Amino acid sequence: MVEQPTPHLIRVRVRPAYTVTVGAGVLESLAANVRERRLALVSDSHVGPRYASGVHDALTAAGAQVVRFEVPAGEDSKSAERWLELQRGFAREGLDRQAAVVALGGGVVGDLTGFAAATYLRGLAWYQVPTSLLAMVDASVGGKTAIDLPEGKNLTGAFWQPRAVLADVRTLSTLPEAEFRQGAVELFKHGLLADPALLGPFDHGFAAGWPEQALAETIARSVAVKAEIVAQDERESGVRAHLNLGHTLAHALEAVSDHALPHGDAVAYGLHFAALLARARGLSDLTPRTRRLLDWERPAPLPEVPFDSLRLFMARDKKSRGGRQRFVLLEDLGRPVVVDDVTQREQERAWDELREEVGP
Ligand code: NAD
Repeated sequence: MVEQPTPHLIRVRVRPAYTVTVGAGVLESLAANVRERRLALVSDSHVGPRYASGVHDALTAAGAQVVRFEVPAGEDSKSAERWLELQRGFAREGLDRQAAVVALGGGVVGDLTGFAAATYLRGLAWYQVPTSLLAMVDASVGGKTAIDLPEGKNLTGAFWQPRAVLADVRTLSTLPEAEFRQGAVELFKHGLLADPALLGPFDHGFAAGWPEQALAETIARSVAVKAEIVAQDERESGVRAHLNLGHTLAHALEAVSDHALPHGDAVAYGLHFAALLARARGLSDLTPRTRRLLDWERPAPLPEVPFDSLRLFMARDKKSRGGRQRFVLLEDLGRPVVVDDVTQREQERAWDELREEVGP
């Protein structure tokens, strides 16, 4: 066997605690990490054909009995219909409480499979093998699982921690570049929140084609930031709100564009918007940084809408409290604060500035 470089292990101190392993070739150690002998392996139509056979064969060679499921790639698979298909599939295959589920794919497969595991027989063990950058740096930590409803995204779900997460940076070699950039925005956000070293890569051509070790180290640092925040606030009643940096505007932009604007693009705009708000309040001036992210990420055009249409969506943000809109702003790199007194006028001014800077 080819010798693998030492992977990074990040302990996520929730209940029950688990480890995220990040490295090149770590997929080969999946069988050694999975203790159950009956497994459902769930993937999607992009990732499955590339990686599921290898994973299936390795698990089978280690003595497990593995049944494969594949859902169409894309957000539409986070549906009640796909969830039910998995439940019934698990039942038909006779999976019992000693079985476990393996999610092999991006955030969609992770959320859907995690929720299927959380609900089947009132909860089966599951393992997460994230293959997109977003799933590695974001969805791999925190145990949030969900499906979408026609009424909104992620409305039905559960906190259900995986038993282990294995993020193999080699799988990123087949991830479309646009998807890599989407995930990188959350990594940048983690840099702003708690680890400025994560901002450096954006000045040095951060890409999936980076040397594996550098890629693994960067991703591991980002995972560590989220793991630390989640450990302090497993159920999102306090500091976990900091992860919402840039997301108040982002959710509104996604909603007004009917989700045509990808999430990462919306967050990149949202981070710059939050930096503009913070600058106007004299809290900090991180706008040169967030502006550089926009130049690197090259988001789709900003939706051309008046501030009033955004305001309605921002007011509806599910993270608002008692009718007061909350924004996460930065007093400095690594120093987030939650404020609930940002006036409409301040928001409108920041929106106008954003439009002047990056609009058509
Ligand atoms: P995704 O799962 O749809 O993956 C994006 C695209 O890349 C898909 O077409 C997928 O098939 C493809 N892909 C993934 N890995 C690949 C690989 N290695 N090679 C080739 N193609 C590959 O989307 P995503 O961006 O990974 O995740 C978005 C989803 O994650 C959203 O539904 C979001 O709500 C959810 N999410 C969940 C959490 C959480 O904490 N649970 C956090 C962030 C996002």
